[in-house]
Amino acid sequence: MRVLVVAAHPDDEVLGCGGTAVRLAQEGHAVHIAIMAEGITSRHAQRDQADAKQLSRLHQQAQAAAAKMGAKDVVLFKLPDNRLDTVPLLEVVKLVEELVEKLKPEVIYTHHPGDLNIDHEVVHRAVLTATRPMAGHPVREIYAFEVPSSTEWAFQRLQPSFRPNVFVDVTSTLDAKLDAMACYDSESREFPHPRSSEALRALATRWGSVMGCPAAEAFELVRSIRPANTPR
Ligand SMILES: [Zn+2]
Repeated sequence: MRVLVVAAHPDDEVLGCGGTAVRLAQEGHAVHIAIMAEGITSRHAQRDQADAKQLSRLHQQAQAAAAKMGAKDVVLFKLPDNRLDTVPLLEVVKLVEELVEKLKPEVIYTHHPGDLNIDHEVVHRAVLTATRPMAGHPVREIYAFEVPSSTEWAFQRLQPSFRPNVFVDVTSTLDAKLDAMACYDSESREFPHPRSSEALRALATRWGSVMGCPAAEAFELVRSIRPANTPR
């Protein structure tokens, strides 16, 4: 099976589905990662104030994190960080479309549209648009992940709210997820921040308790289709 993770920022791919991605890779599936925005630059008043060295370091960290997760590759599109709503949606859609055309993934993991971060919403919309299930389209399932410090910090004020209904046991891969997250030293935070390793472990424990295992990741099924002559 070919799996594509479409994330807005470097670290979302780990936070959202790192444990599941490691598990899929270990089970022999091809995991590809796409990161749409460059990261960091929104922390500066002007996009060009961001330190080029800092950015290239972040992108190296994304490569390192992908390697730790056992992903086949990671593509960094470097669109403007936290400003994806200033990019024509069509431009983001085209990038996802071209990638889907090339990789032909059966399964996509991406953002939930009710997140606080505007880029997450744009990426969700772009994925939906790029994967319209016309005849012969490869994508059969799309799952939305949560991103700690963005999904819960919308406080269900942004619609739709995250309603997880798919749970993946990541007991054996949670440590690898936290290792991958540790590659991003500029994005990790101290406890009790939601992106601290303690909080990530606590979240996995909470979802694990929902499905009866020590640690899990939670997803919302966006779409599942089963064309004729496709095995389950
Ligand atoms: Zn993000």
